[in-house]
Amino acid sequence: MYIKQSIEQLAPYVPGIQPQMDGNVIKINANENPYPPSPSVQELLSGFDYAKLRYYPDAASQGLRNLIAEHYQLSADHLFCGNGSDEIIAYLFQICFEEHDSIATPYPTYTLYKTIADIHRVHTEYVPTREDFTIDMQALARTEAKGIFIANPNAQTGLLLPLNEIEELLQSYHGLVVIDEAYMDFAPASASATSLIGRYPNLVVLRTFSKSYSLCGIRVGYCFAAPVLINALDKCRDSYNVSLLSQRMAEAAYRDQSYLLDTVQKIIATRERVANALSSLGYEVLPSQANFVLCKPEYHTASEVYEYLKSQHVYVRYFDAPRLADKLRITIGTDEEMDVMLEHLRALASVRAED
Ligand SMILES: *Cc1c(COP(=O)(O)O)cnc(C)c1O
Repeated sequence: MYIKQSIEQLAPYVPGIQPQMDGNVIKINANENPYPPSPSVQELLSGFDYAKLRYYPDAASQGLRNLIAEHYQLSADHLFCGNGSDEIIAYLFQICFEEHDSIATPYPTYTLYKTIADIHRVHTEYVPTREDFTIDMQALARTEAKGIFIANPNAQTGLLLPLNEIEELLQSYHGLVVIDEAYMDFAPASASATSLIGRYPNLVVLRTFSKSYSLCGIRVGYCFAAPVLINALDKCRDSYNVSLLSQRMAEAAYRDQSYLLDTVQKIIATRERVANALSSLGYEVLPSQANFVLCKPEYHTASEVYEYLKSQHVYVRYFDAPRLADKLRITIGTDEEMDVMLEHLRALASVRAED
């Protein structure tokens, strides 16, 4: 009775299950990185003077903004840091959309856009992807919505949208365009919309330390945008939105670009090997440029395969949602983890073959 109707009716965001992690559990359901973060993060933590925790952190995460800006040869007033990119998505709704406005986004995609839109009583217009799950940019460009959210590579599918299609959209559409590049480090660098920053005042590019830097646990994301938008984000953020340790850890990880490249290369190589192995097992596999693959089993339903793997302590992601319910999303783990998973899938396929 004390709770607003819009919140009471809200369907909560459902993350992948967090099993109790012991030796033989393989958790490949939340697109987490199978490798530890850069060793420079561990060095930082072991040398950290805990007495410093009595001070508030740098309110603007200025050190981290400067570091990223320098890497991209942009001025730091194009950058904002958040407590995960999820927080930045929430701030974008606070600064850009009124109640009863609309946003448009492809379907399927990251479900958090709609969850946050619902909280702000903003309508979500889903624009279906084509039969092959590629994004229909002509349909998106025709929207009357005040903003467009695109995850690139797209969540759930892993498909990469070419940069020229994003630029064409920006030339005809003048609402807010948010390109969420949570998985972009696993795709060719030339595909990133960060190269368009400075040319389109309505463009926001989101990035995160969670996936490629293997730092889901510290909750740090950032975005690139025109200084006017960055200013507005700064006005509405929590005064100290990124913790002191999180800022330091993100800076340490960011300085170690060679570790990032090494681990990303390993994950890409494993991804290609797993995609081929799944195809040989008769699975239909979407060509992913992210750290996961979306695939459709042949002999069993997706939920049967999901339950079987779960019984073997292998946790993949199953979405009981239109166009996804016949598929599984498998995060790329280490080569050893993928071999165990593939062995279970072979065993399951052979049970069916003997029927
Ligand atoms: C994982 C993910 C995020 C979340 O990033 P955080 O920085 O951990 O909040 C954002 N967008 C997409 C598409 C993701 O898959």
